[in-house]
Amino acid sequence: MSFFRQARFFRSVQELSDLPSESVREIAFAGRSNSGKSSVINALAGQRQLARVSKTPGRTQLINFFGLGEGLFLVDLPGYGYAKVPRATRAPWGVLLGTYVQTREPLAGLAIVMDVRHPLTELDRALLDWFRPTGKPVHVLLTKADKLSRSLALQTLHKVRSKLAADSPHWTAQLFSSLKHTGVEAAEATLRIWLGRSAMQPAQAGPGRERAARTKKARAKGDKARELKCLKD
Ligand code: GDP
Repeated sequence: MSFFRQARFFRSVQELSDLPSESVREIAFAGRSNSGKSSVINALAGQRQLARVSKTPGRTQLINFFGLGEGLFLVDLPGYGYAKVPRATRAPWGVLLGTYVQTREPLAGLAIVMDVRHPLTELDRALLDWFRPTGKPVHVLLTKADKLSRSLALQTLHKVRSKLAADSPHWTAQLFSSLKHTGVEAAEATLRIWLGRSAMQPAQAGPGRERAARTKKARAKGDKARELKCLKD
């Protein structure tokens, strides 16, 4: 069974102060509105309705958390760049998104979904610029690959890879199609490594990791006695 099939809706967050303290490690999905981000999350999770495939792009302004168990999360960030969103409501998004990607400690890496026909738009680049100083990995999913001929899709992939490589050796890209279900296994393999759950390695779960999660939870709740107990366990 695909690792991401365990994903279950956990919480929607509108303020940075509400980000879950339960998270040990998380992967965030970003992308322009209508790029196909919800479809990518649904394809990875093997669930049709997990991230709602919105009929009115740009409406979601929330950060949605999906739990995978053991303190691991998938995070659906608000889509950006939808022209019909009033300018006044766009600014806080930028702050929310920028601050989240730059400062969120459990964030292991950023999956950026781009329509293969319009890769690396100005806003995608802005996001990459915000994220670069963290030194964390980026994986670009060039989705809707079914909309281009194979050779054109591959040409785009090579161009995007060389542009990313010029910025950071940790930034990668692949083709994806939620419609044809292509690229799903490759994406899963990359993202699992970020979560420390590579299919090639034995699971790193176990007492150490679980204890760390319990201790963190107790600390967040201000429960000193419990925190000490977790550390002693
Ligand atoms: P989001 O706004 O980025 O979450 O994008 P959605 O996942 O809602 O997708 C936007 C539109 O693109 C929808 O009409 C989807 O059916 C369509 N779409 C998403 N992924 C694919 C794909 O891989 N191939 C094709 N042909 N259409 C797709």
